[in-house]
Amino acid sequence: MQNRWMMQKLSVVTAETLSGLERLHVGRGPDGAPVLRGARCADCGLVYFPPIGICPSCASTDQAAEDMPRSGTLYSETTVHAAPPPWFTPYSVGYVDLPNGARVFGHLRGSPRIGDRVTLTTAVLGRDEDGRPVETFAFEKKEG
Ligand SMILES: [Zn+2]
Repeated sequence: MQNRWMMQKLSVVTAETLSGLERLHVGRGPDGAPVLRGARCADCGLVYFPPIGICPSCASTDQAAEDMPRSGTLYSETTVHAAPPPWFTPYSVGYVDLPNGARVFGHLRGSPRIGDRVTLTTAVLGRDEDGRPVETFAFEKKEG
């Protein structure tokens, strides 16, 4: 039953439906690269992602949309080796500290290490019941 619920949720977020990434608050910059659409609290100034509608620091609901910087520093990471279908395993997740002060949780591509500079990209995490790719945002080690 739980797996059935998960499949229904995942089927909404696919690469074929542009709204899939939009539902995750991922837009595209002028150059076509993905950008996270976050929020800044109008009362205390905290910048956070995702934009949950209430400030995690002061509980204010007065917020303005703010795009997150695309690159940051990997604060922590772990690798998941066992997951229910349709997830591809192993996969890695972690927290990324952005230069605007936000700490964002997300998937990781490749094998970045704590302290590495990482940049926003997208990744396919698995396939839904119809074989369509399930896509989300992810961070990968920045080259150069
Ligand atoms: Zn606040």
